[in-house]
Amino acid sequence: MDMNSPITAISGIGEVKAKHFAKLGIYTVRDLLYHIPRGYQHRGRVIELDESEPSVTSPFVLTVCSTPKTARLRRNMSVTKFRAFDDSGEAEITFFNQNYLERIFTVGSAFRFFGKAEKKGKRYAISSPEYEVITEGKPLPDFVSVYPLTRGLNEKAISKAAAEALSAILPTLVDPMPQSILEKNMLCTRQYALSRVHFPTDNTSLTAALRRLCFDEMFTFALALSISKKKMTERYAPSMSNTDITPFLAQLPYTLTGAQKRCCDEIIGDMSGDGSMRVQMNRILSGDVGSGKTVCAAAAIYVAVKNGYQAAMMVPTEILARQHFEDITGMLSPFGVKTALLLGSTSQKEKRLVYQGALDGSIDLIIGTHAVISDKLEFESLALTVTDEQHRFGVMQRATIKNKGIHSHTLVMSATPIPRTLALSIYGDLSMSRIDEMPKGRQRVDTFAVDEGYRERINTFIRKQVDAGGQVYIVCPAIEEAEGADEGEISLDSLDILESAEMRSFAPLKTATEYARELAEKTFPDYKIALLHGKMKPSEKDAVMSAFADGDIDILVSTTVIEVGVNVPNANLMIVENAERFGLSQLHQLRGRVGRGQRKSYCVLFSDATSLTARARLNTMTTTYDGYEIAEQDLLQRGPGDFFSGICSDQFRQSGGFSFRLSELCNDSTLMERAFSAARECVAKGLSAELEAEARSAFALNENTIS
Ligand code: ADP
Ligand code: MG
Repeated sequence: MDMNSPITAISGIGEVKAKHFAKLGIYTVRDLLYHIPRGYQHRGRVIELDESEPSVTSPFVLTVCSTPKTARLRRNMSVTKFRAFDDSGEAEITFFNQNYLERIFTVGSAFRFFGKAEKKGKRYAISSPEYEVITEGKPLPDFVSVYPLTRGLNEKAISKAAAEALSAILPTLVDPMPQSILEKNMLCTRQYALSRVHFPTDNTSLTAALRRLCFDEMFTFALALSISKKKMTERYAPSMSNTDITPFLAQLPYTLTGAQKRCCDEIIGDMSGDGSMRVQMNRILSGDVGSGKTVCAAAAIYVAVKNGYQAAMMVPTEILARQHFEDITGMLSPFGVKTALLLGSTSQKEKRLVYQGALDGSIDLIIGTHAVISDKLEFESLALTVTDEQHRFGVMQRATIKNKGIHSHTLVMSATPIPRTLALSIYGDLSMSRIDEMPKGRQRVDTFAVDEGYRERINTFIRKQVDAGGQVYIVCPAIEEAEGADEGEISLDSLDILESAEMRSFAPLKTATEYARELAEKTFPDYKIALLHGKMKPSEKDAVMSAFADGDIDILVSTTVIEVGVNVPNANLMIVENAERFGLSQLHQLRGRVGRGQRKSYCVLFSDATSLTARARLNTMTTTYDGYEIAEQDLLQRGPGDFFSGICSDQFRQSGGFSFRLSELCNDSTLMERAFSAARECVAKGLSAELEAEARSAFALNENTIS
């Protein structure tokens, strides 16, 4: 057995179990071992019954003192009861529909239970606790891992599979990380990390394990970035000699901001030169939503076309492509620039015309979705590709375009303000332009952080906005209720929580599907409400988004898919549920969806989180409106994982099988610096085959996925 073996290689896992594992995205032994617990129950600190608090899940060691009795309550429902005691008292323990437990809880045997003890008269009552039998000479572990689950797989099954896999794999597992890097960064071995993250013995070992795994994640990420970057250095693209954009600027209805001017200069500077070819531009244009990136891209396109070349613009969604098409034809058609729109939904006949026009050079600019543009399209003389990544962050996996063997200049627009410290690490030698100034007269989206106590007032506020003709976004963190209870476990959100080993439960998550129904049926039956989430088909999403843009929907309940949204200037209220679940940068992106028109706009962040850090984070949003400042805060407060996971689209996360899940757990931003610098060191010294293979497979990089 090795990391790549299918999980059926693990004893006890057959085809049926394998199907359940597949639902969790676990196909190989590696997938299983990197299926990191989402938390740990600290069952080591056993308390007596009389020390228990009614709503707190706690561990108790109790001895069974009555024979279990099962009673049928009704059809399909039976209850098994027995009593068990410790020095401080006696508890009645209840299980439902598990008659077989009668045989397990024999009188005189001792168990460690994990549940909530409620005082009922002189006894305690514990319902459906977790349990482990206590055996002489076999101490129970202090921590029990809690895994993301699916129907058909419980904690014990995953834990058992992980234990089997570890014992088969560890003896031969080679840690590809050079020893010098381990030492310099005080990292434990991969073997230790994998075994302790599933079976921690104490806080210290768990912290060390997580630290190493987080390091690996950032390190691999950094390697993948540098692999994909290495490819694009020595490339050449046409140089532009005619670079005067005065006529273009003169027909705009506004003057550029200073920041826009500087960025245009930087971009055009990259493309200009006297000879016929020059080093290819690879530039990221970042700027907060609404900072006016499109016009900078249009200026670059203007230059390319004026010099007799073609340009292409790739965007993530059809509806966004249409919007850009309208904006940009408006700016460029006065100069005779011929633009075509190319979408998945474009008819075959029309597509052929576009292909033809691109190939014979009669079309100057093609705007369309990623896939469509890179598919079959061939250009006569493409000199510039602009990619609008919107909120996504993606230097990788950009499509290559056929272009008679000549490369084109590349401009990527990103609406994620990337902190300076991070930008250096991520982009290294990639050039970066920042539009760090908003056009004059932009309204501020007044932001409020509130708790459930404000629900009625906010509902009234929603009515007021809709009745006045406005529109509302309501963003929820989840689509449907996740399986498995969230109770009585320590979340890995922050290791601090582990230190105090406090049991706590989360506020229930508002799920988009459920909430949309509730609003439509109960709260706002008189308004038009629609639902939008990432699991819908692209055509369905587009239909909902268009209806919202056309004003046919009053309230749009959605998940974060609206981040990459269209401009709906009439929308003026953004409500975020369970706001503590989102990264600051992400909240800022969401807020940017409103405040685009004339209406005074607002953002309301709902959260019942009481922790000081959560409150402080949300307060940042009510006092800071600068995307770059927020991004720096985000990075500082939560570390790189949160930052990345907030800005990487689901698609990106899934495509590479890379989630930054681990880094989300690591609030040590120095670790990221360490990982990036270790990666630089490794690349400089020459990458080992193992490390390179790991980075490539983590990001599904192949020869064609280059920037
Ligand atoms: P983003 O950076 O989010 O892509 P856009 O390019 O879509 O922003 O610009 C947002 C809006 O601001 C557009 O309606 C655009 O016409 C307008 N705009 C851009 N630059 C300026 C400016 N310098 N002054 C006034 N309005 C501007
Ligand atoms: Mg834009």
